[in-house]
Amino acid sequence: MENCIFCKIVAGEIPSQKVYEDDTILAFKDIDPKAPVHTIVIPKAHIASLNEVDGDNLKDIAHLISKIPQIAKEQGVDASGYRVVNNIGRDGGQTVAHIHFHILGGRALQWPPG
Ligand code: AMP
Ligand code: ZN
Repeated sequence: MENCIFCKIVAGEIPSQKVYEDDTILAFKDIDPKAPVHTIVIPKAHIASLNEVDGDNLKDIAHLISKIPQIAKEQGVDASGYRVVNNIGRDGGQTVAHIHFHILGGRALQWPPG
């Protein structure tokens, strides 16, 4: 989608540090990491947020979620543990309107979030 920074990363128009890629999803390092491991996982197809997941695109999201443990393992946090975060909309703190899942780990994470 035009002017979507994550679509531009998928298209190679904006560089990223890729950590996993297949036909339908891409994982790359967050540009402003909040933990020693901070990876962003996205579907290559533009979906604005979890609110827009439907019967047509659910397959890509299901595939994405199924790959998170493998990506976490490759990032070295499978045994120590990690958090998967999906922010939705204004109050959820979503700043990029292309659905993405954060993988955070490498330190003890606090709960609850601010
Ligand atoms: P959210 O606040 O949930 O929408 O998360 C968006 C995340 O994308 C933030 O953690 C940003 O640091 C990250 N981000 C924004 N632009 C880029 C980029 N060009 N490459 C990698 N991560 C990015
Ligand atoms: Zn997009």
